[in-house]
Amino acid sequence: MRIVSGIQPTGNLHLGNYLGAIRNWVLMQDEWTAKGATCLYFLADLHAISMPHQPATLAENTREMVAALVSCGIDPDKSILFNQAQVPAHAELQWLLNGTARMGWLNRMTQWKDKAGKNREGASVALFTYPVLQAADVLLYQATHVPVGEDQKQHLELARDIAQKFNNDFASEEAPVFTLPDPIIPPEAARIMSLRDGSAKMSKSDPSDMSRINLTDDADAIMQKVKKAKTDPEPLPSEAAGLEGRPEARNLVGIYAAFSGRDVASILAEFGGQGFGSFKPALGDLLVDKLEPIAERYRALRIDRSALDAILAKGAEKARVLATPTLEAAYGALGLVRG
Ligand code: ATP
Ligand code: MG
Repeated sequence: MRIVSGIQPTGNLHLGNYLGAIRNWVLMQDEWTAKGATCLYFLADLHAISMPHQPATLAENTREMVAALVSCGIDPDKSILFNQAQVPAHAELQWLLNGTARMGWLNRMTQWKDKAGKNREGASVALFTYPVLQAADVLLYQATHVPVGEDQKQHLELARDIAQKFNNDFASEEAPVFTLPDPIIPPEAARIMSLRDGSAKMSKSDPSDMSRINLTDDADAIMQKVKKAKTDPEPLPSEAAGLEGRPEARNLVGIYAAFSGRDVASILAEFGGQGFGSFKPALGDLLVDKLEPIAERYRALRIDRSALDAILAKGAEKARVLATPTLEAAYGALGLVRG
């Protein structure tokens, strides 16, 4: 079994990124490697150039993301952690698959329609063929399972269609070139809201640093931000229904639930009727307890460029070994002469 999953590199990571994205990777790594599967996790830097981007920021974000992933528990000895740009087979296979993918298929992709908007003539070709690169990302490793959120389901279907057509057109039934990957639906990711406004998502582009807890924040900063978090004057309700219409309270209780592994009902059974004056210190303590070890590793690793580059180089080496047989089989099936 092989699991393949990618993430766009971003810098300045925060609590929302951790609970909404990174933590799932760590959970999957631990669950699937225990079953004997190989997890390949890649930074989708090739995908990042499909939209206008800053080259210096991309390089920086790629390294930052590695630092965050490793600090949060992705183990480069357990999983294969790498960036696409160091495994040229991704780009090569994409080109080979461009011969199989149909314009009509890509034209139907809702992400393409959304991202290109009305300006299709001005969109990059990379944005249009983005789903073919995604197909290459997973087919290259004979992925058996690919975690996909709601927004990526259509792209995985496309990858299966491409694999099937390629196998039909260029391989025998007994010796298909590609495995058709099955989707796995990751556990529903928490959506964390700003600490200053319960109706806005916690995000790195919010100008107020008090709106988010950064993965680099120390214990004092965490306590301070939780203490200053916006709330309403009512005490906490005793049941989940009482959080209706109270987005700030709901968000803080949700964060508590995500870090304690407890459900909202049991948290409200404990804190219901109490004011935020007693809930906030408990939440702050919990966050410090869970985030401080991560933050400590992250602060040290994000500035250690040679360690980060070494992690990526090692991951890429392992990925290239796994990619080569499939890439060569695809070249061969198409009748392309290789030395
Ligand atoms: P930006 O403000 O630039 O959009 P961001 O803080 O929203 O940045 P992204 O780079 O867009 O972060 O997202 C990286 C990953 O983190 C994505 O998988 C995204 O779904 C997840 N994520 C971002 N913010 C949150 C949040 N507040 N709650 C849960 N998941 C989040
Ligand atoms: Mg975002």
